Amino acid sequence: MSGSPTARTGGVLDLRDDALTSCVACGLCLPHCPTYRVTGDERRSPRGRIALMRAVDSGETLPDEEWLESMDTCLLCRGCETACPSAVPFGELMTDTRTVVTAGRRVSLRLRAGLFVLVRPRLLRVGSRALAVMQRLHLLPGRLPVPARMPLRVPRRRGRSEGDVVLFTGCVMDAWQPGVHAAVEAVLEATGARVRRSGDSAGCCGALHTHAGLDAGARGLATRVMAAIPPDVPVLVDSAGCGAALREYGTLLGTADATAFSARVRDVHEWLAENVERMPAPAGERTTVIVQDPCHMRHAQGCHGSVRTVLAPYADVVELDDEGLCCGAGGAFSMLQPGLAGAVRLRKTASIQRATATSGARTVVSANPGCALHLAAVGHDVRHPLEVVAESIRGSGGDPHGR
Ligand code: SF4
Ligand code: SF4
Repeated sequence: MSGSPTARTGGVLDLRDDALTSCVACGLCLPHCPTYRVTGDERRSPRGRIALMRAVDSGETLPDEEWLESMDTCLLCRGCETACPSAVPFGELMTDTRTVVTAGRRVSLRLRAGLFVLVRPRLLRVGSRALAVMQRLHLLPGRLPVPARMPLRVPRRRGRSEGDVVLFTGCVMDAWQPGVHAAVEAVLEATGARVRRSGDSAGCCGALHTHAGLDAGARGLATRVMAAIPPDVPVLVDSAGCGAALREYGTLLGTADATAFSARVRDVHEWLAENVERMPAPAGERTTVIVQDPCHMRHAQGCHGSVRTVLAPYADVVELDDEGLCCGAGGAFSMLQPGLAGAVRLRKTASIQRATATSGARTVVSANPGCALHLAAVGHDVRHPLEVVAESIRGSGGDPHGR
């Protein structure tokens, strides 16, 4: 990323030289690329996109409409990265390419409007309530990627001023799925941890800005988040997309403070997996759930195993058979590329249906709000893994909030 100290190409895209040259065009990433699987088009594959980056960077070709489409249709799922034997940092190449591309053209009005609201928590809450009212009156278009039942009111909790851990609450998840943060907080407090929420002063993590190539915006938000979170305590994140973004602040900002901050960030399942002996015993019947691994957990953070560890005392887990292929949500991708996002989702839906057919399980658990909304939009029953755990703990008769 921008903060990398290593040599850059000095070309049109000015990418990190060793990153761009490390691809040996072996094609082993192709089966792991959702857009290649759906289109069969080399220009929609990691290998093809890298070749196109090289061609433009060297000045061999100009970035025409087709070239831009190849870059815009990447989900930034990084499934190609974990499959690549040459360790090509594809996410970095794509993010840096988008930063250059975005600087040279207007960002779509829809995306700008969405990002404007996301970084203003009060406006986001007011707008979300308006959406909830419209939804009750059946005035919302069905294709909007919002929860099936938007909350009319988001209870404002009086935050602790101190805590053993900070729970990063972000933006959309806080406004649209407050029950998830409440469940996560309940599970954490049931281990005896005192939880402080990051709240409005930290706000949005900037992941969608990074995806869109809005580097300056992402840096500004990263700086705000770091300033709002107290030092020396673990920063726990229950949204895989936000967690991956926070973990990359060191690279994004290129400062020692940012690197130290990123080192404190943990996915909440990772932290719980290390403290699993402190979790209360389950009560009642075990449930069975299908686990969907968000790309930002599996490919970007590599911590998807901890979800299984945390669920194990409370639920039986059914695995999908698609080796972690992306569901098609991809941050704002489902809004910007609805056709391709829907086609990619069809493959995930087929995998879920196979899992249901063999196990009887219908509930899917996903640790990323974007994936959850994208899958719920086509009728899947999707919950956060820690909602399942909180329910099991609550069944024991204890106070789920640990108070
Ligand atoms: S990105 Fe990696 S796996 Fe894909 S073609 Fe290049 S070297 Fe091979
Ligand atoms: S990040 Fe995902 S969509 Fe983009 S090239 Fe890699 S595998 Fe394909």
